[in-house]
Amino acid sequence: MLIEPKVRGFICTTAHPDGCRAAVQAQIQTARKYAGKTDAGKRVLVIGGSTGYGLASRIALAFGGGAATLNVMFERPAAGARTATAGWYNTAAFEAEATKAGLYAKSVNGDAFSAEVKARVVDIVKRDLGTVDMVVYSLAAPRRTMPDGTAVSSVLKTVGESFTNKTIDLRTNEVGEITVPPATKEETDATVKVMGGEDWAAWIDALQAAGVLADGARTVAYSYIGPVLTHPIYLNGTIGMAKRDLYYTAQAIAKKHGIFARVSVNKALVTQSSSAIPVVPLYISLLYKAMKKAGTHEGCIEQMCRLFAEKLHTTDDAGYIRLDDLEMEESVQQEVAKAWKEVTTQNLTDYADLDGYWDDFYRMFGFRWEGVDYAADTDADVPIAEA
Ligand code: NAD
Repeated sequence: MLIEPKVRGFICTTAHPDGCRAAVQAQIQTARKYAGKTDAGKRVLVIGGSTGYGLASRIALAFGGGAATLNVMFERPAAGARTATAGWYNTAAFEAEATKAGLYAKSVNGDAFSAEVKARVVDIVKRDLGTVDMVVYSLAAPRRTMPDGTAVSSVLKTVGESFTNKTIDLRTNEVGEITVPPATKEETDATVKVMGGEDWAAWIDALQAAGVLADGARTVAYSYIGPVLTHPIYLNGTIGMAKRDLYYTAQAIAKKHGIFARVSVNKALVTQSSSAIPVVPLYISLLYKAMKKAGTHEGCIEQMCRLFAEKLHTTDDAGYIRLDDLEMEESVQQEVAKAWKEVTTQNLTDYADLDGYWDDFYRMFGFRWEGVDYAADTDADVPIAEA
């Protein structure tokens, strides 16, 4: 079939298998530059390893560090006229390349929050790897089914007071204002349940109880802090409350299991999850402009290569790994703050790297890759071997 992008708001409902393969191959090329420098685990479990930071972690650890990787994801294969999700195609491409390179690579497609998926992963680790020595927790989910069957949803709202600021309408590229309302207590609690640390801790407990967590294992999860202008919606909003919980969970895991457990604060980047946060896409497009001008712009793969090769054992005073160091450089933030004040729909392209934003967006779904024949009849049905 002919596969074209179908963009609805901040999501693209189609994905291109050849473009996703090109995306994965480009990331592998970057990771290969770190070969011999990455020693962060040889038997790795990545929870949420099919897109964004989780996929980049998987690639950095496999192709930078020679790791066997087991991935947990929630993706959809192709069905009839519907393409698979980008994460499905990324995973198929990654596993083909890893296998070619002699690296173990398997995936479990299912709900990471569930006890069934945890048990399945434990069985596979026992069967194939013995133990895991690195666990990357990179879930970004809109909802969670709790053990009793009830569902809770995360919301992207403020806590306390409403917040009005500039935003970009991604459908029209227009700069306008948005007022983000405060969450109710229930909504904040639900967001913490979905995006906080409870499930991360449950994974580590399950692995430990089954005897498949290696002595001296390490585990990381990802967070974001960002500049003051996004604090009401991020750091001090519902998602920030969940991330605070993640931070305390790292400490609790380290204490309970005597292992290395840290939260890495990553750079703001275009991913399927970040596109959904109000205010953030405009900030990202101003940030891209400033960081590209400064020559310090990085994508997910550069961030994750740096994490596992250089930064894993460095922290700030609070104990966070800071991969947002280049984003938070004073000169970059001053430029973004100035642009934020001045940007309007009319002068948007002067201040914002809109092309860069949209290139990253389309490329996430396998579009806009050079060398891919988008006019070709393409088989959307790409298999992934059972783990
Ligand atoms: P993403 O949407 O690209 O990836 C989410 C992953 O989670 C995918 O692999 C998806 O399949 C998986 N997933 C979702 N629900 C699942 C479920 N129920 N069961 C199993 N797998 C499931 O997101 P991302 O932006 O890479 O975010 C990953 C982490 O990094 C999040 O904790 C996020 O807050 C954090 N982070 C993101 C940014 C950013 O700018 N994108 C910055 C800093 C930190």
